[in-house]
Amino acid sequence: MTKKITIAIDGFSSTGKSTLAKQLANTLGYVYVDTGAMYRAVTLYAMQNELITKEFFKVDELIRVLPEIKLHFKFNPEVGFGEIFLNGINVENDIRNITVSSFVSKVAEISEVRSKLVEQQQEIGKDKGIVMDGRDIGTVVFPEAELKIFMNATAATRAKRRYDELVAKGDNVSYEAVLKNVQERDYIDTHREDSPLVVADDAIEMDNSDMTKDEQFTFVSTLVNDITKTL
Ligand code: C5P
Repeated sequence: MTKKITIAIDGFSSTGKSTLAKQLANTLGYVYVDTGAMYRAVTLYAMQNELITKEFFKVDELIRVLPEIKLHFKFNPEVGFGEIFLNGINVENDIRNITVSSFVSKVAEISEVRSKLVEQQQEIGKDKGIVMDGRDIGTVVFPEAELKIFMNATAATRAKRRYDELVAKGDNVSYEAVLKNVQERDYIDTHREDSPLVVADDAIEMDNSDMTKDEQFTFVSTLVNDITKTL
């Protein structure tokens, strides 16, 4: 039997990390973990409890209640991936709106939030056979991952993809608002002190602005095969 590996997919917002990660996980029979969903779920909790609004962010209070926040993924065969649950409630849909997107990078800057989520991510992936996407997977969560991909695309391409997704879901957003959000998150994610978004030394960079989903999948599948052959 081929040995299972750890696949870390990092990169900027809306680069299609999760699409690629889901395709890989389903083809390889691996577990897929969307770590962005975890940061989004913590953000949703903070919003629901009025710890974060446009006017204020009660950071100390959020840190104090962190132990009350329980996250888990449950595989849904209808959609083909693990959906995220916040304290027992499926919040997969609730975390994907522009309001959560506008706060999430601020929540993700907090070291206490990061260490809680990183610990859970490392536990989920300890037996390998995992495809995890995020911003710090190849640098912090699994620095020993056998395959690290860093995805990028122009901000305009990424904003258009995210805008189309939101409109398809029935969200009433403007392209400009989505572009602004993508740029703001890029800035915060690359400039934060704890685990900033950087390309790991041994990551393979992939700009998919002009690649189809099939092309990127074929490209990465070949890399996976090359690695597993040598194990
Ligand atoms: O992947 P997604 O765009 O849903 O992630 C939402 C936000 O969560 C990112 O903009 C980033 O601020 C944060 N994040 C992070 N580290 C991760 C995954 C996501 O800081 N591993």
